[in-house]
Formats: sequence, structure tokens, C-alpha cells
Amino acid sequence: MSFELWEKLLLLGLLAVTLAIAVRQLRPKLQFVLGGAPERVRTDRLGSRIVRVVKEVLFQSRVISGRPVVGTLHAVVFFGFLCFAFETIDHFAEPFGLHFLAFLLGAAVPVFKLALAFIAGLVMIGVVGLAIRRFLMVKISPDPKSWSSGVVALMIFMLMVSYLYSLSGSAPGQKVNWWFHALLIFGFVPLILHSKHFHILMGPVNVFLRNHSLGEHQPLDLEAMSEAEEEVSIGLETMKDTSWKMRLDFITCVECRRCTDHCPAASSGQELNPREFVLAGRAMMGREGPFIGNVISETALGQCTSCGACENICPVGIEHTQLLLGAKRAQAMAIGQGMVADEFLQTIDRYGNPFSAPKQKRKQLLTDLEIPIFEKGNTEYLLWMGCVSTYNEESRGALEALIKLLRSAEVSFGVLEEESCSGHHSRRQGEEFQFQTLAGENMARFTDQDVAKVLSSCPHCLHTFRQEYPTLDAAFSVETVHHSELLSQLVKSGQLQVNSGANADKKITYHDPCYLGRYEGVYDAPRDIIASSSQNFIELPRNRARSFCCGGGAAGFARTQESDGTRVDQARKKEIVESGAQTLVTGCPECKMMLGSAVAETLDIAEFLNGAAN
Ligand code: SF4
Ligand code: SF4
Repeated sequence: MSFELWEKLLLLGLLAVTLAIAVRQLRPKLQFVLGGAPERVRTDRLGSRIVRVVKEVLFQSRVISGRPVVGTLHAVVFFGFLCFAFETIDHFAEPFGLHFLAFLLGAAVPVFKLALAFIAGLVMIGVVGLAIRRFLMVKISPDPKSWSSGVVALMIFMLMVSYLYSLSGSAPGQKVNWWFHALLIFGFVPLILHSKHFHILMGPVNVFLRNHSLGEHQPLDLEAMSEAEEEVSIGLETMKDTSWKMRLDFITCVECRRCTDHCPAASSGQELNPREFVLAGRAMMGREGPFIGNVISETALGQCTSCGACENICPVGIEHTQLLLGAKRAQAMAIGQGMVADEFLQTIDRYGNPFSAPKQKRKQLLTDLEIPIFEKGNTEYLLWMGCVSTYNEESRGALEALIKLLRSAEVSFGVLEEESCSGHHSRRQGEEFQFQTLAGENMARFTDQDVAKVLSSCPHCLHTFRQEYPTLDAAFSVETVHHSELLSQLVKSGQLQVNSGANADKKITYHDPCYLGRYEGVYDAPRDIIASSSQNFIELPRNRARSFCCGGGAAGFARTQESDGTRVDQARKKEIVESGAQTLVTGCPECKMMLGSAVAETLDIAEFLNGAAN
């Protein structure tokens, strides 16, 4: 196709205008992000960041795993977008006599064009499917409809039609079709930059910059803060305190609602809504003001169980738990009011545990169960008892079962003379000072006893020892295992013998604790133990990484009633009952406390195994 001079000039003019509009739209976004507070380096472990981008952006793994049908349609459109990028360059090079595709592919251009025709067909199916879901399936997609989504879908469809028409080289109106295609692309650019479709550009960047693991919280430097001459903010007191990554999160959100759909509080009808607080952060772009109140309310903040489901499902790398913890820190340490778990924290201050239990009670338990004390240089595992197992009477059976199994397998274990709470819930409530004090006490005990291996039946303590204590002191290093991991190994090695038919008649299900599964990736060990004596295992509909919180996280087990909606534990119990299981097994003393009355029998994994052991 040949182009007149005026056509080339018009094209260059349109390119310049589009570029100017793009700069104008990008500038406030860039200023907002660059004006954010400094934070950690986000380019460490480059290899794993690149692998993540390939997996999650190029292959759309999170998008598909969260919603298989709609995710696949999205992946098709995205794949088409990538392929058509080459065709678009070729399109705009053509008037200037340049042949980009020929330069790149040589004689293979016709094959590429044919493949692109096939992809165009798939993209058309993809956008129509997505548009039907978005605009017609109101129950599945209940959010207010944005006009930009409809326009973008229509434009993509028309681009595909125009491309297919261009393949019939002899058909009339090819020049008109060429300009139509070009104008659609020119219109596409400002629309993408101005709407939620901005994620096409920022999603890959944000996924690359995301933390390596869920809830990777950095400690506050309390000493430096207390010595600072100027007043310093603690946590997210105002919008000024939001870091550049948090701001990038705000402008990258694609409004897909996956986080809200998986949030236990939101799905139980409570006020907390992760998508809404991310969008509220975006609405604060260019404005100042307190974080709590403008981005999230105190009520909503108090409903978060820190389960991590929102962050885990987000396809564009948004870190909700950083925002939530930042707000909690501001609430606890600077504002000092509106705390959900005020009493809980005061009790830990006074007693060293959240049950108001005197230390004598622990000593009595050690005597009653004849639990050995850890001997420096002689004992292999430090058995971490944890507050719930120690002071909650209902958890006694699980502790007894674990001790019995360890003795039977001749595992060398012992407990500390004294334990403080691990500080897990204090940190989740934003009480960093209390967390660091408790952590300091426990780390000093571990170091004093030369502890190398810790065995914990509480996933909350396990996560805190594995991921959080080392950030306070780089020299601190202990190997921490969950009791399900050790018990599973003992069964596999034959050190524990199991009667394989012991639970043959029972319908058994398993609840994945958030901090064992989503946070620590332990899914198979408890299931392997159950499979060793049961052939009647039922998975709950929401399992493994998609597990639904029991409601006990972030001191939730200390709350007696929610201000609105259904309690999270009630929603999970309903699901357990509907599964038809007679026995519920779990691997966390808090989950057991929260879900205890759901079905006839609720067992810790140690109790379950003990019941089946020969
Ligand atoms: S961490 Fe869990 S409870 Fe909190 S907002 Fe996210 S999904 Fe909801
Ligand atoms: S925060 Fe992530 S999961 Fe939630 S709506 Fe935005 S893009 Fe979707």
C-alpha cells in the first residue's frame, strides 16, 4: 500500500499528540509514586523475580488459578495483545516503507500472519466472553460497570475485525481500513493510561517488585525512633507515610475483586473490603490526610484476621498486608485508640500470655505430663509449647498426644523452663514494641540454650520464629518445624507405626490453617498423615492456598462478637458441616479452638495420628 506525503505527516502529527496526552496522563501518577516514603530494596534475588514475572505475567498463572474460566479468557486476550504488538509496529512502519515483520521473520511472514488470524479469532471469543461476564452476569460480577471496560472490549474486537479484513488484500477500502486500525490504536493509548487498564503496563512491574513471601514485614527501628530529634511517624499515620510501593499498588489495582471474594471478613458480610481500601488509597492520589478514616475505617481494620488471602490471590502483586499492618502500627503506637485487642495486649503485658494464666499453671502442666526440660548440648528438639496449648484446657489432649508420639518414636525433645508468648498476635495488632520485647526474651533463651531445632504445633509461632525473628537479629538462626512435618517424617521412616484401617469408616476432612498453608506452604504433611489411616478423606471446597480463615488470626480468637455480618468462624463451620465430614482435623491450636464445635469430632493432627498409631 502506498501513502501520500500528507498521510505520513498526519500520522506523525497523531503520534505526537498521542505522546503528549500520554505524558500528561502519566505525570501525576509518576509524581504520586515518586513522592512516596522510601522503603526496602526491591531488586534482590533477581532470578526469582524474573521467574515470577514469566510465570505470573507471561503464563498468567495467578489469573488462571484464581478463576479458571475467566482467567483463561483473560490469558487469551493477553497473549493476543503480546502477539499483536509486533503487528502494530509493522502497521505504523508501513507508510515509511519499512517492513518490520519481514526484517524480523523473513520468509516466515505469511505463516505469522496466518497464525495471527487464528489468534485474532481467539481474542474475539475472549473479549466477548469477558464482556458477557462483566455486563450480563450481574450475580458473578456485581460491581458498578465502568464505561471504559465496555469501550476497551469493543475497541479490541474492532481491531481484530480490522486485522482480519486487512488479510483479504484485494478487498476494497484497504486504505480506509488501514486508517481505521491506526485510529483505534491511537484511541487505545489514552484510554489505557486513564483507566484500570493501566495495569497492562504496571502489572508486570508490580509483580516484579512484590515481596518474596507473604507478609514479609520489616521491623520498626524503635531505638532510632526514640532517639530521633524530630517527630517521626509510626506506621501509616497519614498519606505522607505511604511508601512508593504502596502508592504503586494503589494505581496498579485492576479492580478485579478477587481479594474481596477471598477475604473471610468481606465474605461474611463484614465491613472490611480489601479492594475498596486499595481503591480508596488510589482516590487519595494528590491529597493529604490521615490514613485511617480516608483509606480504611477503624472498624474494618479491626476485622482483618491477617489471613493473607487477599494478597495471595491478587494477580498484580498488591501487598494488602503491608497496608494493614502499617495502619495497625499507627493505630496502636501513635494514635493509641480504637484497638480491637487492647485488653488482649494488656493481658500479655501483665502475664506473658493472653489467657491471664499465672506462670505456676505452666509449671504444674510440666509436672502433670512429665515433660522433660531442654538440656543444652543433649536435647535435639526444643518443643515450643505456645500459649494456647499451654493455657487452654481444650488443647491439653493435643499436647498429650504429641508428647506420647514423640516418646514412642524416641525423639529427643525438651521444653524451656520458661516461655514468653512468641509475640505473633502483638505484631499483628501493630504493637511492635511488645512484639520486639517478647521476641528478645525468647531469642535470648534460645541462644542461651544453644537451641538448633524448634518443634512447634502452633503455625503462628512457627511463622514468627522462621520468618520474623531473623529480621530482628541476622545472627539468629534456628530450624523450625511444624509438628505435622516431623510426625509425617516419623511415619514415613517407620519410627511411628500406623494401623492403616484405624479410620476406615470415618469421613474425614482437613482445615488448612492460614499460617501453616498460605504463609509457610505446608499442605502435604498433614494430608499424608491422614492418608496413612484413612481412605475416606474429603477436601473442603476452599482448601490449600485458597483455604478460608477460621477467624482466629490477629487475636481474632479473643474477640467474642463482630460488630456486623456473620462471624468468620461460623462461615467456615457451615462449610465444614456441608462437606458431610464426621471428623475435622487441623494443625493449629487456634483453629481447633475456633472450629471445635462444627462436627462431632475435631482433632489436632497429633491427636488424630495418636488415635491410629499401633
Ligand atoms: S488479610 Fe485476610 S482478613 Fe485481612 S483483608 Fe486480607 S483477606 Fe481480609
Ligand atoms: S487489589 Fe488485586 S485482587 Fe484486589 S481488586 Fe485490586 S487487582 Fe484485584
